[in-house]
Amino acid sequence: MSYNEQIFEKAKKEISRRRHTAETQAKQRRDELITACPEIEEIEQEIARAGLEAIRAISMGANAQEYIGKLAKKNLKQQQLRKDLLINIGVDEDYLEVKYNCPVCEDRGTVDGKRCDCFKSLLKKYAYDELCKCSSVKLSSFNGFRLDFYPSQQDPMTGISPRERMCEVLNYCRSWADDFDRKAPSVIMYGATGLGKTHLSLAMAKAALDKGYGVVYGSTQNLLSRLEREKFGRSQDNGATEKMLLECDLLILDDLGAEFSTSFTISALYNIINTRMTTGLPVIINTNLSFEELEQRYTQRISSRIIGDYTPIEFLGRDIRQLKSM
Ligand SMILES: [Zn+2]
Repeated sequence: MSYNEQIFEKAKKEISRRRHTAETQAKQRRDELITACPEIEEIEQEIARAGLEAIRAISMGANAQEYIGKLAKKNLKQQQLRKDLLINIGVDEDYLEVKYNCPVCEDRGTVDGKRCDCFKSLLKKYAYDELCKCSSVKLSSFNGFRLDFYPSQQDPMTGISPRERMCEVLNYCRSWADDFDRKAPSVIMYGATGLGKTHLSLAMAKAALDKGYGVVYGSTQNLLSRLEREKFGRSQDNGATEKMLLECDLLILDDLGAEFSTSFTISALYNIINTRMTTGLPVIINTNLSFEELEQRYTQRISSRIIGDYTPIEFLGRDIRQLKSM
């Protein structure tokens, strides 16, 4: 799996809309031109007739070759005539041809049974749109991550400066993104607010999307409320959210710990984390909670799975959003 069905259907629809538009416009151009210059239609009919005759001539045996040669000559002459006429009228010689958006697949979306690049880029575009709809922040890149916002003074406790640590973090996230596939390790990013966790996880999301994987991103609160509405029949999409959360190629739960905790959210969270661990699908969790707070807030079943199975990435430094606004 990669893109969800909805995105796939949307792209298919758009491709066929493009094809339909291109063909309708060509027909319109033709009709208008023929009204203004009926001679064009006569020439076109001649050309079509010659084509049919050539097919019939193949069965003529020995004389076929000569006859087909004559037809071809005649055909060329007609084509030249059509070309001259079009130029005389003042339009391009390909004026009557269908102008497809993608000449490679002629707006079919596939070439030789494989997805055409135009289709792939539509899928990517819709996947981005979908992701940005769920998040207040735009997709970010690793290049936009500013290490100079992190203090370079060594921390006496750890012997390492936040900048050095964040450089390691950035490198880890980059290589995680480069190697991304459905077997990528799950990651928990923790540390105080405003240290760039969302920025880096969105850059990782973008990398996975660019590779054609399906990514679901959202604040834990929003995703769980959506799930709850659906579970208790207050939403039309029956079971769609749960399926998406359990089966997407990459799930990013932003701001774990900020959600309103109920017995429903706890069990839903357990189900998500446990199922994805069993099927080996990656999750990125962002949280402001420390591991101790994680253990206090969630049942041991949840916290032990996260602490035991996720790669921990600690974010250090000062609140970057404050530094940026200074
Ligand atoms: Zn194409």
